[in-house]
Amino acid sequence: MGDISFWFYEQHAPGTFMGVRIKSVLYQERTRFQELAIVETEDFGRALVLDGALQTTERDEKFYHEMLAHVPLCAHPSPQRVLIIGGGDGGLVREVLKHPSVEHVTMVEIDPAVVEACRKYLPALSCGLDDERVHLVFEDGIAYVARSAPESFDLILVDSTDPGGSSTGLFSSAFYRECHRVLNASGYLACQTEEPFFRPQAMQDAYRAVAGIFPLTRLFISAVPVYSAWFWTFTIGSKAGLDPVQIRSAPPAGTIYYTPEVHRAAFALPPFIRDLL
Ligand code: SAM
Repeated sequence: MGDISFWFYEQHAPGTFMGVRIKSVLYQERTRFQELAIVETEDFGRALVLDGALQTTERDEKFYHEMLAHVPLCAHPSPQRVLIIGGGDGGLVREVLKHPSVEHVTMVEIDPAVVEACRKYLPALSCGLDDERVHLVFEDGIAYVARSAPESFDLILVDSTDPGGSSTGLFSSAFYRECHRVLNASGYLACQTEEPFFRPQAMQDAYRAVAGIFPLTRLFISAVPVYSAWFWTFTIGSKAGLDPVQIRSAPPAGTIYYTPEVHRAAFALPPFIRDLL
């Protein structure tokens, strides 16, 4: 692919686009599941794009992966067995492995092409995929959870694309009910649940679906500059009713976004978000 500077636009509302200048396209493929591209951007480093949606960038991926990993991991007293659904770029696995209590991480990614491309072009994210504690499964996460035994995992982390296509079912009550069955008694389910500004309905639907299954459900937020409205939300359900705002195991060192203070503050919701739940 040559050097071709052009603007990449994502539409977030009828009158709002997010534009990112692209310096070059490093890789492109029409996979069995989606249109995949790895691009070099002017301001965010390399980025993974799936079906025309910016998924993750070298510059701000940790603002998202650190929060989706360390809030549930630090809320749990001793997380050992972790299931990741999606997460093909490997950024979430890299963060989960920073916890010494974690003995086994299963990552269930539907599209092997995403893992292959990110291994080659996004090594800073995919660097943990060959860790001896990691077990990669290329399958629909819905089918994998459905065939998993009860009480198999301490944490289930859903790092999916936006609702649509193969990820639609990952936002359903039926899937969350299966996750509840497969979690240990003190387990947590944590999912990326879209953003409250341009897509409040998607966030509200996902949150309420989790809250309809788990005895205690909370929403927490992160700021991800490359995403549509900077806010991004995560929904966490506790099978034992243990409030995830409390930190029960040691946070990792070397993070650039997550701290115990940020963990607690992430649950302090502005009224415009709180009133949507
Ligand atoms: N981690 C990135 C971020 O920072 O937002 C983006 C998420 S990751 C790239 C989303 C992954 O979910 C994709 O690789 C996609 O192939 C995968 N996925 C979508 N539906 C799935 C399903 N039903 N089961 C497993 N993986 C799925």
